[in-house]
Amino acid sequence: MSESNNESLAWEKIVATYRGSLQSLEEIKRMELHFPQFLSHGLVGSEFRIGVTEDLQKQWFSELYSKPLEAAIKNAGLGDGIKVVFVIEKPSAIAKATVEEKQIKPKSAQATRRVRALPSTLPLHENYTFKNFVRGPSNSFAHAAATAVAKGLGRTAYNPLFIWGGTGLGKTHLMEAIGHYVLDNNPEASVCYITSETFLNEYVNAIASAGLPAFRARYRKYDLLLLDDVQFIVGKKQFQEEFFNTINQLLIYNKQVVMTSDVAPKELQLEERLISRFQQGMVTEIESPSYETRLAILKSKMQARNREIPSDILNFIAENIRSHVRAIEGALSRVVTFIDINPTMPLNLEIAQNLLKDMIEEEVTIKNITPEAIIQATAEHYGVTINDIKAPGRTQSLVTPRQMAMFLACKLTTDSLPDIGKSFDRKHTTVYYGSQQIQKRLSVEPDLKQAIAQISAKLGRKISDVLE
Ligand code: ADP
Ligand code: MG
Repeated sequence: MSESNNESLAWEKIVATYRGSLQSLEEIKRMELHFPQFLSHGLVGSEFRIGVTEDLQKQWFSELYSKPLEAAIKNAGLGDGIKVVFVIEKPSAIAKATVEEKQIKPKSAQATRRVRALPSTLPLHENYTFKNFVRGPSNSFAHAAATAVAKGLGRTAYNPLFIWGGTGLGKTHLMEAIGHYVLDNNPEASVCYITSETFLNEYVNAIASAGLPAFRARYRKYDLLLLDDVQFIVGKKQFQEEFFNTINQLLIYNKQVVMTSDVAPKELQLEERLISRFQQGMVTEIESPSYETRLAILKSKMQARNREIPSDILNFIAENIRSHVRAIEGALSRVVTFIDINPTMPLNLEIAQNLLKDMIEEEVTIKNITPEAIIQATAEHYGVTINDIKAPGRTQSLVTPRQMAMFLACKLTTDSLPDIGKSFDRKHTTVYYGSQQIQKRLSVEPDLKQAIAQISAKLGRKISDVLE
C-alpha cells in the first residue's frame, strides 16, 4: 500500500464524502463492516485501486462501492473521471497473522459473545402464519406444499421446496408460516430464516475474518433453513458454490430447505447442477390472486384487525386493486386510517374512490407499461442512470442497457416506433436497429435472457410476456 501522508489524507476525505452521501443507518453500518476489509488503496494512473483478498469481495464490493466512490472522489474535488477498481491482493504474512491471532485470542469475553451471536436468523413476522394466509386457486398448490413441508419436516419429497412468483404475492408470508408452524409444534427445532442478501453478506464477512469454518458449521446445523429471495445469488459464482454446498449438506442429513424467488428456477441462469438440485424437490408458483381471492383476503385482513367496512367498498377495492396483495393491504390500511381520523363521518363509496384514486391510477400504469418505466427499470438493473440511457453518445458500456430498454419498449408497450424513439431522444430507425441487436444476441448470450426476466419482474411482467 502506498502510504504517503497525502494519500491517506485523500482517502480520509473520500471516505468522509462517501459517508456524507449515505441516507440510511443500514448503509452506514454496512460501510463500517466492509471498509476495514480493504487492504490497500491508492491512485495508479487514472485508476483508484482498492486491494481485497477474495474474488467474491472484489465482485461484491465493486457492485456496491465502485460507482459511489467514483462520485465521492469527484465531489471531494480529488479528480474527475477517476475509475475505482477493486483488485485482488494477497495479504501480507503480517496482516494474516493479525487476523489469526484475533481469532484465537478474543480481546474480551464480550468479543467472543459477539462472534457467537452473529445474526444468522432474522425474526419471523408475527402475522405471517398459515392461519392468516388466504387460500385460492392462485396459491393453493404452494400452500399445500408448504403445509406438507411444515408437518413432515425433512421427511417429504418436497425438499427443497422452491416457491416463486411476482412481488407481493405472499412468498415470504408462506415461507415464514412454515417457520412458525415448526417452532410452535417442535420448540427444539432449530430454524433459520434469512434473505439471500444477508446470507451473502455474512459469507463475505466470514471470508474476511477467516471465519469460514464457523460460518459453514453454523449453517449446516439447522433443521429448517428458509432462504428468501434467492434470485439474489445470480451471477455470483463463488457464492453459488457455497450456497450449493450448504443446501446439499442439509439435504444429505434430511434437513429441510425452503427457497423463494421472484423468477422461476430456470430463469435464474444458475449452474445446471444447482437448478437440477432445486428441481429434485418441489417447484411451485404463486400467481396473482383472482377477484374472489382478493375479496377473501380483504375480509380476512378486516377480521384480523377487528374492523368492519361496508361491502361495496371492499368490492370496489377487490375489483380495482389487482396487481398484488401488498397493494390491496395498502388500500385497506388507507381506508381504515381514514375511518380512525374521521370517526364521525360515514364512509361511503364516493369517499373511498377519492381516497384511493392515486392507487388505482398506479394500477392502471402497472397494466400499461410506458417506455419511461421501462427505461427506469432497465437503468436500475444495469446500475446506470436514465440520463445515461437517453444520452446522445455511443459509450460502449451503455449500448447494451440502451438497446435492452429499446427492445423491451417494443415488446411491452403498444407505442409506435416513432413514439418510442421520442422517449429515447432518438430516431425510430435507431430503436428498430437496437431492438434487433438484442434479438440477435439472445440465442448466444444466456445472460441477456436473465436480464429480461429480472427487468420484466420489476415491471410486474413475466419473461413469457416478452419472449413469445
Ligand atoms: P412476496 O414475498 O411474494 O413479495 P409477501 O409474502 O411479502 O410477498 O406478501 C405481501 C403482503 O401480502 C404481506 O403482508 C402478506 O401477509 C400479504 N399476503 C400475500 N398473500 C396473502 C394471502 N394469500 N393471504 C393473506 N395475506 C397475504
Ligand atoms: Mg418476499
